Amino acid sequence: MSRSWAELDISNLRHNVNVLQGLLPSSCVLMPAVKANAYGHGAVEISRELNACGVRAFCVAAVLEGVELRKNGIKGEILVLGYTHPEDFYMLEKYRLTQTVVDYSHAVTLNSYGKKIMVHVAIDTGMRRLGERSENIDKIVDIFKCKNLIINGIFTHCNVMDSRKSSDIDFTNDQVHKFYDVLGQLKLRGFKLPKVHMQSSYGVFNYPHLSCDYVRVGIALFGMLSTRKDTESYNTGLRPVLSVKTRISAVKTVSRDEPVGYGLAFMAECDMKIAVLAIGYADGIPRGLSCGVGYVLINGQKAPVVGRICMDQMMVDITGNKGVKQGDIAVVIGESEGAIITACEVAEQVGTISNEILSRLGKRLERHLINAELQHASVI
Ligand SMILES: *Cc1c(COP(=O)(O)O)cnc(C)c1O
Repeated sequence: MSRSWAELDISNLRHNVNVLQGLLPSSCVLMPAVKANAYGHGAVEISRELNACGVRAFCVAAVLEGVELRKNGIKGEILVLGYTHPEDFYMLEKYRLTQTVVDYSHAVTLNSYGKKIMVHVAIDTGMRRLGERSENIDKIVDIFKCKNLIINGIFTHCNVMDSRKSSDIDFTNDQVHKFYDVLGQLKLRGFKLPKVHMQSSYGVFNYPHLSCDYVRVGIALFGMLSTRKDTESYNTGLRPVLSVKTRISAVKTVSRDEPVGYGLAFMAECDMKIAVLAIGYADGIPRGLSCGVGYVLINGQKAPVVGRICMDQMMVDITGNKGVKQGDIAVVIGESEGAIITACEVAEQVGTISNEILSRLGKRLERHLINAELQHASVI
């Protein structure tokens, strides 16, 4: 049995695919973001299941993430969202990956590689990250004239689609107009429009009507939004895919006034019982949960973190929890006898978003698939 592991509920993943697809016009399909090891879930495991339920397009951040998917037999279009250096262009060709054109100068470099390369063109409409600026229509047109670029897509990324504040909605609508304007200009000049995409997870909920071919969903596919508040108030019906569980390595008693862990940061105020867990910050458990900030669930009861979280281990208080023994399971994220701790809650405890908690989960966690028996049934 494993030391510590991530359980992936495949029936929940399929449910989320259906929920999200159901919110979109039928001409628009999911292009899941499986970057950062599918937000810590396991890129190969998740992409394989998505392939099995009919998903035919993915996005990753880095060319090597795309290579890993291809080496593991993932089918369909794989878009690399980030910059790729010319030294790595051969991988795009060898593994049939699609590269994002991050701006005009990148297009020139990609075009001069000498072989045909599949691309999507990024347009910057206000994020000021990647993409040729939407105002530079002449440069965008020049990108479209590049002979060696097979342009299969054009997209923009919006930076406040998650907000329902009216000034943010104005900003987003302006981005949408700038993007559609670029598309109009291209059509006017006789170019056939490739696949169009602009929404990520929040875009599906706040701007479902936008006319696009793909949506780049990340966090929602994994069953939540970025914060606990949003996850509750949007009432999406999405179900979390991942749980994180670990083994209790040891149970021991600690006497009053004895310290526990590094830095003597915790001092027992009374006689207590602690459990040592086989998971630490190298597995992605935030060290900020140390000393009572966070807790785990054991037999449905909360066990607060005692002392500082170590690289590979952590200690929790089980004083009030009878019958806990070596080899038992502790739940770090997920459900334990009806009690639940969510990734959003962990994120809130350390002042971040669920995306960060999930994407930093370590490679050392084994990935266990559960409820996967229908894996070859087509859902879409
Ligand atoms: C990560 C990413 C996404 C997915 O974002 P979510 O908010 O997790 O859905 C979409 N588009 C781009 C460009 C990204 O980098």
